[in-house]
Amino acid sequence: MFDPTDEQLINSLLPDHESDLTWNTPHDIIDSVQVSPKGQKEGTMPYSQWGEPANDFTSQFFSLKHKGDKIQFRLLGVPYKDGRHFVQNPDESWTVTPCSRINDKGECNSCNQYMEMVGKANRTGDKKLIDQAKKDARKYKVTISFYFPVISREEAKFVIFKSVPSIKDKFEDEIKMGSDVMKSDWIVMRTEKPGSDYYTLKHVDSSDTPPLTDDELKEVERYKKTDLSQIVSGSKDDEGDLAAEANVEVE
Ligand SMILES: [Zn+2]
Repeated sequence: MFDPTDEQLINSLLPDHESDLTWNTPHDIIDSVQVSPKGQKEGTMPYSQWGEPANDFTSQFFSLKHKGDKIQFRLLGVPYKDGRHFVQNPDESWTVTPCSRINDKGECNSCNQYMEMVGKANRTGDKKLIDQAKKDARKYKVTISFYFPVISREEAKFVIFKSVPSIKDKFEDEIKMGSDVMKSDWIVMRTEKPGSDYYTLKHVDSSDTPPLTDDELKEVERYKKTDLSQIVSGSKDDEGDLAAEANVEVE
């Protein structure tokens, strides 16, 4: 029986997200999913449990929808991660359910199913069997999105930038190499190259980074008063190194 508390086993079984993500669920399908407030059931009216939201948060989300699209931004804090299971129906529509393991650190039947199937094959040590099991189990595999609080430099506005695990990994690499990721701008571009460069992350040299304007600093204040956990239905990425950056003041 698969032990859902065995983090090491889970990590060894979980796919390298980005490369698998591209053949598992089309990006356009992933992009079409709107986040909903925590605890909200899929398919119900968004925000109905809140009454009138103070802000129109839906307009605050931003994602790169087409090849060549890019965004230059200043990172404001720790991203939130959101897990979903995408299952394609016979009529080619998709059923999307939140992953309670990723979002609420709870039990998730789909993840359990995935890890049982792949775990069983893993124990044989046979690469062919493992690959086949991964293929057979892919409808149970979780798809993770990351939501980054940023200032979009083009719009001079606080937006929640929805992206993929590889971008979060690239930030982690930058931090390991000593970059202060919150002190200058970044550009993410959708290249649609297969593999981990489907989206690229580029550092804007600090001498080329204009300082935040007064309007943008007001937007930073707006971010600080925003409770992201109420907007994004995932969980704070509090295990990653980015968490250490959470308390760094933005300049
Ligand atoms: Zn799950």
